[in-house]
Amino acid sequence: RSNAEKFEFQAEVSRLMDIIINSLYSNKDIFLRELISNASDALDKIRFLSLTDKEILGEGDNTKLEILIKLDKEKKILSIRDRGIGMTKEDLIKNLGTIAKSGTSAFVEKMQTSGDLNLIGQFGVGFYSVYLVADYVEVISKHNDDKQYVWESKADGAFAISEDEWNEPLGRGTEIRLHLREEAGEYLEEDKLKELVKKYSEFINFPISIWATKEVDVEVPADEDESSEEETPESSSSEDEEVEEEDGEKKPKTKTVKEKTYEWEVLNDIKAIWLRSPKEVTDEEYAKFYHSLAKDFSEDKPMAWSHFTAEGDVEFKAVLFVPPKAPHDLYESYYNADKSNLKLYVRRVFISDEFDELLPKYLNFLMGLVDSDTLPLNVSREMLQQHSSLKTIKKKLIRKALDMIRRIADEDPDESNDKDKTDTEKASDNDEKKGKYAKFWNEFGKSIKLGIIEDAANRGRLAKLLRFESSKSGGKLASLDQYISRMKPGQKDIFYITGTSKEQLEKSPFLERLTKKNYEVIFFTDPVDEYLMQYLMDYEDKKFQNVSKEGLKLGKDSKDKELKDSFKELTKWWKDALSSENVDSVKLSNRLADSPCVVVTSKYGWSANMERIMQSQTL
Ligand code: ADP
Ligand code: MG
Repeated sequence: RSNAEKFEFQAEVSRLMDIIINSLYSNKDIFLRELISNASDALDKIRFLSLTDKEILGEGDNTKLEILIKLDKEKKILSIRDRGIGMTKEDLIKNLGTIAKSGTSAFVEKMQTSGDLNLIGQFGVGFYSVYLVADYVEVISKHNDDKQYVWESKADGAFAISEDEWNEPLGRGTEIRLHLREEAGEYLEEDKLKELVKKYSEFINFPISIWATKEVDVEVPADEDESSEEETPESSSSEDEEVEEEDGEKKPKTKTVKEKTYEWEVLNDIKAIWLRSPKEVTDEEYAKFYHSLAKDFSEDKPMAWSHFTAEGDVEFKAVLFVPPKAPHDLYESYYNADKSNLKLYVRRVFISDEFDELLPKYLNFLMGLVDSDTLPLNVSREMLQQHSSLKTIKKKLIRKALDMIRRIADEDPDESNDKDKTDTEKASDNDEKKGKYAKFWNEFGKSIKLGIIEDAANRGRLAKLLRFESSKSGGKLASLDQYISRMKPGQKDIFYITGTSKEQLEKSPFLERLTKKNYEVIFFTDPVDEYLMQYLMDYEDKKFQNVSKEGLKLGKDSKDKELKDSFKELTKWWKDALSSENVDSVKLSNRLADSPCVVVTSKYGWSANMERIMQSQTL
């Protein structure tokens, strides 16, 4: 094209496209899901803007917020268009080629090992899946603020953009035109597309129509030419019987024949799953809904979900999910992540998925949706962010989320005390739920710990969800409640020790006497545990005691005072020998059994393990 401006794809994007175009991946259908999802996002954006600016939608067909699919069998073109927000020239350059998203290289890396192309949408590069089926793609787009442009690429490392002088004006929105590869002919079959759209559009909130062939009955004069009947074998034999009008006047005989025409056929019915009663929604439907929200199309089902209606001052409906696995970048950008996984709707209108006011960061691993009737519709996102109702919504969401997580544990037979169960009870334990909490803990335990650190108001609830190994847990995970139930008579504190591994801690001299006396000691081996224990002071009125720190009390011995006095000279000599630069004090201790002495940290100082962590961070 004479007016085309050429661009090179950003290097990672180019690599990604190479991988896609050379992929032997058999499930090529996924491109359609990605295109429908993009169209739906673009429609969400224009609808949101139209809340505060009615003019923005324009008039006529432009006001129809819909997705349209057309096939051209002869030219082998499949096109998907939307009346969404559209893209300016600059948008086209940035979004479709020159700016690599954070997920691009992660996805490329994954695909080079043993990645699943199915996950492409999760990495924010779904658009490029068009090259699974097309060798040449045109994107025609019209944004309110710019002229209509055509983006085109044969996935050969470059793309071109030209002002559109060839196509009909779109009004507003985007048309993706796929020039299908030879072997992708199935995507020109109407039935195939109908089937796929139905499969992939279940939770899309805009009508999707296909330009479908339709057989219509047409009346044609009958018996004028006998041979015409043979030429149209499909013609129905039912001749028009009402040849005579009431006034008896004779009309020429007609007959009905089938004729092929085209018309838009709507393929989806828009139903918001969250508006339905939870009793009526099946587990299957929740799982599918989760997959579409998370853009996770693996077979894995979510670990848990909670669907509820909140009433009172602030009314809203919400669905929350615990995903089957932690996303690839959950803790990478914990403090500056720009997205939560919660979508906010106001009266069925999608507002944003970037409202970090709705869930605290430590719950960012949850997926879900909130739809509120209480929030105002016609205000800017910034105003909405300040709205007082958000605080109430957040509070309720946290409660419900923690309840949902606790339920995973409550329903997990591995979590309860098997001793108290009869054999039949054990046999009826649900296999599917067995070990589920350990799985949850493995994926998201760190989030619970971060929650204990960050959320003082819910610290107690979160501490209930905490799991750890201990000197008595026998390689399994234990909870604080289990610890307390095993405490010795007269034991006041919860004992713990921190270090790099369980094996290291089991050999620690700090444990000698405690183990001998049959006390249970919690092993904390995650670096975050040191911070955690600076915030977790007590649980159910029991204090936490780091057994490597000063202050360990194992019950009084009447001979303590006497012993202390008789060793006074030794401890004094020792203190002087080490000098006060190195130690605070030298004390007689009853915490050891076999080792002669041990270095203990002062109550408010860093533990040796914390020193180690801090050192490794500054190096
Ligand atoms: P994602 O949808 O996760 O952002 P994609 O690779 O699917 O990633 O799309 C890249 C970007 O291209 C989108 O973020 C959007 O800005 C733009 N885009 C794609 N399709 C459309 C469309 N139909 N209308 C408007 N913008 C689009
Ligand atoms: Mg997308």
